[in-house]
Amino acid sequence: MRNLVIVKIGGSVITDIKKQDTPDMDSISRLSAEIKKIKEKRPLILGHGSGSFAHIPAKRYGVGRGLINKGSAFGASLTQDAAARLHRILMHELLRKGANPVSFPPSGGAVSRNGIISSWDLKPIMLALRHGFLPVVHGDVTMDSGQGVAIVSTEEALRYVALRLKPALTVMGTDVDGVYVGYSGAVSGRLIRHIDRHNISEALGQASDSHKIDVTGGMALKLKALYSIATKTHSSCMILNAKVPGRLYRAALGMDVPCTAIRF
Ligand code: ADP
Repeated sequence: MRNLVIVKIGGSVITDIKKQDTPDMDSISRLSAEIKKIKEKRPLILGHGSGSFAHIPAKRYGVGRGLINKGSAFGASLTQDAAARLHRILMHELLRKGANPVSFPPSGGAVSRNGIISSWDLKPIMLALRHGFLPVVHGDVTMDSGQGVAIVSTEEALRYVALRLKPALTVMGTDVDGVYVGYSGAVSGRLIRHIDRHNISEALGQASDSHKIDVTGGMALKLKALYSIATKTHSSCMILNAKVPGRLYRAALGMDVPCTAIRF
């Protein structure tokens, strides 16, 4: 779809990652306003992570590995509930800001195979876009044809959507400015500003997991998802710091911001 923007806001941005079930209401409120302003100018699909909500029960019960023992079903339900609770907090704020959000959780329509979505009817999302709504998806627990249940990350949900709806731009907002060389738990070293076919192997080698509570895969997962989107749709992709006020808004509308830009 011409002009479509897909935005992810990370769980590290909208929750206090160190305190279970703790939303960062200042970030949620500010980003909801930025998202409303982006949506006024371009069709937009939003995805968000689960931070200190779903990652904690997911890890405790090994939900990412499927129905592995007697506690797995309870763990899966608990994890889905945690993801949905954060989702409702963000949706409520988007509603208050006038963004007209509608909810499309993968658990309600997607089937995965070992955590990779194998089917998901995106017609409702396409209609919602056409009618001027803000479709919102999130990382979720899905019914899985391989392992019983699985965690579908926000990156995987947005990758599936992007390959079919072909956005002009996909932006992943997280808590660092982009992919660094030599990252080891604190920001230091050089920010990789552009990734293309010449340096993708170096960049993939630098991006690792989250260095925090995270069951889906940190920077490595983001970069792999964006690499897939950028090569298959020939669109622009970015990783940027959504904790800095205005950056997400500026980037989504094509203004220059510090980031890692991915383009093939
Ligand atoms: P979010 O919750 O916003 O989706 P994640 O915590 O999953 O974000 O992923 C971002 C994190 O990835 C960073 O905060 C950092 O800890 C980690 N990371 C791993 N490798 C790198 C790298 N090379 N450059 C920057 N961050 C990296």
